[in-house]
Amino acid sequence: METADLGLCDALRALFVSIGDMLLPRGCAGCDKPDEVLCASCARLFVHVYPKVLPGDAGRCYGCSWYCGAVRHAILNWKDHGDGECDRVFALLLTDLVLKVLDRQESHVRSRALVLVPAPSSASSMHRRGRWQMLPLARLMARGLKRHGVSAVMEPVLRLEGVQGKSVQTSGASSRAKRIEGHVHVSADLSDADSLFIVVDDIVTTGATMGQCLSALRDSGARDVIGLALACTPNRAE
Ligand SMILES: [Zn+2]
Repeated sequence: METADLGLCDALRALFVSIGDMLLPRGCAGCDKPDEVLCASCARLFVHVYPKVLPGDAGRCYGCSWYCGAVRHAILNWKDHGDGECDRVFALLLTDLVLKVLDRQESHVRSRALVLVPAPSSASSMHRRGRWQMLPLARLMARGLKRHGVSAVMEPVLRLEGVQGKSVQTSGASSRAKRIEGHVHVSADLSDADSLFIVVDDIVTTGATMGQCLSALRDSGARDVIGLALACTPNRAE
């Protein structure tokens, strides 16, 4: 599916959601509290900076929350049940995570150009959901970061090709890694780029997908790469 088609799908989805809102009051994506996209209690679950060690030598990523309870409910409502109203809320939470992670790094990092890279969805996932759900989030994040004075662009350079089935149904880091190994492709030469590349995903469980994304960007020349997610599962030793 082309990016332009996905943009049209997003617009149509937003239109249908708006019509639905006029007919039916909505509930919080996390706990069903009436008239909220994400209530304050559920939003507070997403304000953390949880580190997650990725398999192999892929490094680490950071999540806004642990993937359980209302967090899991909210993300699955957004992701699998078309709750597109969460786009803006989740983008704000991820933008805050970017700023917190940058502040933990060297002081000059905020002056560097950021490239936000949405984690890729497989063709079957995009077909099932009608869109590449991380694309609008990364786009909104780039806009939000600019409002904070951070130079940021969104570049959807990662592709997931030749992978079938739902990734969350494949358990175990090694089987997940085997499933997508060699299927994450970068559609640009990044060797001239001195930017900080930030891969953004919704859920990181085994870390196999995120690890492959970071490795693929490094193999294409990106020197500085980190991964961020709305939610992740704790490493087993933690
Ligand atoms: Zn709630």
